[in-house]
Amino acid sequence: MPRHASRSSSAGHPGSRRDHAPSVLPVPSPGTTAATLLLNATYEPLCVVSSRRAIVLVLAEKAEPVDSAPDVVHAETISLPVPVVARLTRYVRVPFPASVPLSRRAVFTRDGQTCVYCGGSATSIDHVVPRSRGGTHTWDNVVAACRRCNHTKADRSLAELGWALPHAPHTPSGAAWRLLGARTVDPRWREWLGMPESVSA
Ligand SMILES: [Zn+2]
Repeated sequence: MPRHASRSSSAGHPGSRRDHAPSVLPVPSPGTTAATLLLNATYEPLCVVSSRRAIVLVLAEKAEPVDSAPDVVHAETISLPVPVVARLTRYVRVPFPASVPLSRRAVFTRDGQTCVYCGGSATSIDHVVPRSRGGTHTWDNVVAACRRCNHTKADRSLAELGWALPHAPHTPSGAAWRLLGARTVDPRWREWLGMPESVSA
């Protein structure tokens, strides 16, 4: 009594595969390496994702493009501008870390890439109260500085040098700052990040 060996064909006829998996989306070319700023439904910056990932979200209608590049991604039946900024269609609640990680890049961004002492181009990080004197590696004691000022200052205090800070170094806050730790900010993201076009001392 041979029966159909139906180990895996329990559902439907083998000949009628109307089983288009909806999760299979046109895949952008691997050359799409740009990054996209992803906003929450409230337009609050969330994170930076690969543009490839953003396109998948847009095609799945989980996000909508807010700002797009001139480049267009061609998939099987769809042409889509590469999103520079995309916004989630549904709000997601994200636990933000209490403090912004202290990084060289974030300090440079906070201080506008300029030396806080002379306004020149910053090339290094300076501890206002030198570490050798108990200064901490914290936002309120770390500033961007040029090589010359950093070298001149060495292990001395501002009082000893007669120098002053234009303003006390502050701890950055806000969701936008979470994004600055590890990557370059696309100028087209700035308006969404609440960052000025350029910071001058
Ligand atoms: Zn300087």
